[in-house]
Amino acid sequence: MSERFIPLLDARVRSVALPASEHLEPPLGRLNDRLQRPLRDLRISVTDRCNFRCTYCMPKEVFDREHRFLPHSQLLTFEEIARLARRFVVHGVEKIRITGGEPLLRKDLTRLVQMLAELSTPDGRPVDLALTTNASLLRRHAASLAQAGLKRLTVSLDALDDDVFRRMNDVDFPVASVLDGIDAATSAGLPVKINMVVQRGTNEHQVLPMARLFKERGHVLRMIEYMDVGSTNGWRLDQVMPASEMIARIDAEMPLEPIDPNYPGEVAQRWRYRDGRGEIGVVASVTQAFCRSCTRARLSIEGRLYLCLFASQGYDLRSLLRGGASDAQLSTAIARIWSGRSDRYSELRGRTDHGAAAKVEMSYIGG
Ligand code: SAM
Repeated sequence: MSERFIPLLDARVRSVALPASEHLEPPLGRLNDRLQRPLRDLRISVTDRCNFRCTYCMPKEVFDREHRFLPHSQLLTFEEIARLARRFVVHGVEKIRITGGEPLLRKDLTRLVQMLAELSTPDGRPVDLALTTNASLLRRHAASLAQAGLKRLTVSLDALDDDVFRRMNDVDFPVASVLDGIDAATSAGLPVKINMVVQRGTNEHQVLPMARLFKERGHVLRMIEYMDVGSTNGWRLDQVMPASEMIARIDAEMPLEPIDPNYPGEVAQRWRYRDGRGEIGVVASVTQAFCRSCTRARLSIEGRLYLCLFASQGYDLRSLLRGGASDAQLSTAIARIWSGRSDRYSELRGRTDHGAAAKVEMSYIGG
């Protein structure tokens, strides 16, 4: 896979050459890309390993016993992650999401949470720190995550029907244990949202049961269109259930009305139940691309910066870190990468051969 990445300092490929320290004019404050999109969110993947084999994300046939996950020495250390995260926060990042793979598989993760929870924006607000998990290890970790300063959680759950869920996670993991993890997090004081990937023909009949249960329990359910991320899941357009259809199904039983986003660039479209009891969200990344308002950057486990979930190339920040770059040099690199950004994969989907290059896997880049 590595030949597809763009090393920052390799002159043979598109690279960001760093000026010598004495010529540096590091950027100050916020950054905008070529489409005037600010840098606001950073997703940090802390492991490429997962204990689930969701058929749409890490299919067993590909991620089998022979699959070689990255050795520990290749991963960014917590100190390296925190150092980079600090530079991103200086340049406008207000939200950080820890993801993976399954982030709770990374040893001692609460230590990283503690380090990131200490970050605050230049105007003194604490960074909004979230984590996405499959909840399999959540009961064990919920209290220490909350204590370490995590602000909120997203738990992935694709069905309430046990057979359907066990088939989708493909490791026979039961729904009851995910619900138990959610309860543990709630008791620890962590707000929990639920992510559900809806796949036509697989779990579309679970939309209503999921909406009913999480309305009753007071959690926001976010239903996500099945995306053509990565190259291993055999994605087909006819497996995508449009978000409009998900909303129509729920609305027919529990009337809904649209509400404004919480902030500019929010990925999920929000709807509230007309009875005033709760809300849901849909992420229409296939049928209604939102590239124009995308403010997210993604840092892979190896310290490669990706500007799009559908990218095939990343920028190698780890060699800068390990090569002794100063904070000013890191800032300059981040600014050059972000200000050169012009991607809008989802908008162009199907219109060009843009997607022909092998795309990076969700389990590597982080969802
Ligand atoms: N292991 C964690 C979890 O299960 O939440 C974090 C990583 S997982 C890759 C993050 C999110 O990406 C999950 O909610 C998952 O359902 C979603 N996801 C993975 N592949 C997807 C796809 N092809 N389309 C839409 N969402 C996807």
